[in-house]
Amino acid sequence: MTKLLAALEAGGTKFLCALGTDDGELRVQARIPTTSPAETTEKALRFFQEQQATFGEAAALGIAAFGPLDLNPRSPFYGHITSTPKPGWADTDLLGSMARAMNVPVAIDTDVNAAALAEWRWGSAKGLDSVVYMTIGTGIGGGGLLNGRPVHGLVHPEMGHILVPHDRAMDPFPGCCPFHGNCLEGLASGPAMETRWHERPELLSQDHPAWRLEAHYLALGLTTIICTLSPQRIILGGGVMKQNHLLPMIRADVVSLLNGYVQAEAILRGFDDYIVHPGLGDQAGIKGALALACSAEQGPR
Ligand code: ZN
Repeated sequence: MTKLLAALEAGGTKFLCALGTDDGELRVQARIPTTSPAETTEKALRFFQEQQATFGEAAALGIAAFGPLDLNPRSPFYGHITSTPKPGWADTDLLGSMARAMNVPVAIDTDVNAAALAEWRWGSAKGLDSVVYMTIGTGIGGGGLLNGRPVHGLVHPEMGHILVPHDRAMDPFPGCCPFHGNCLEGLASGPAMETRWHERPELLSQDHPAWRLEAHYLALGLTTIICTLSPQRIILGGGVMKQNHLLPMIRADVVSLLNGYVQAEAILRGFDDYIVHPGLGDQAGIKGALALACSAEQGPR
């Protein structure tokens, strides 16, 4: 018997709300523009109240959110969005505002940790213990599972802000991260591409030099991740990765950068099933929230 669960993917531009089941199927969903915290969470709660009247009571809620987030369960600010530059959202008690009204077990994590969890449950990472999920879009974020558990530590991974070698003679663009300038996100996010080349990434032709540079920066970031976290698979999602010619270029650059040093069957077999697109496609995010609801309902894995 499947269980009904509530899922909330809280993004900087939209909140996706859904009811789904513990086998990964979505029943109903809605998209709410992200405005003020009070207005946005109120609309999300109204969706859940109305849809539960039709579909039945959800057993748990999962929240996959933009961050940074406080994910320390012993912190008084657990489940708060902390230092975001997004106006009005710093120090928002996202978990508390939803949990008080829903009155069910709630789990919260970063959108990318949640997407990795969903890919592990239902997508490209089934059967693996250690996987990294990165999104390359309006920002760059990375999360994952290590030894079967979402990666948390001091806070949570911030893989988008890895510092990568930047040859300013080859690429004079200074980067656009408000905190670091030329970190990975500052050099390789969608807005970085658009600012550097004065064109939206999806409008750049496949043979534009932008793509070789983009593949190179992403490969530098992934090589650092492979050498530090040793994931069994890397999943690359987000709007920029919809340009399908990019993934083979990234794979080739990672092979070249590793230069035969990391000896593992998954890598020696070739990179076609090592660095991959999300098995869940555009639903990795909302199904990430659903996967968190599964964890909340079943207890942590
Ligand atoms: Zn940065």
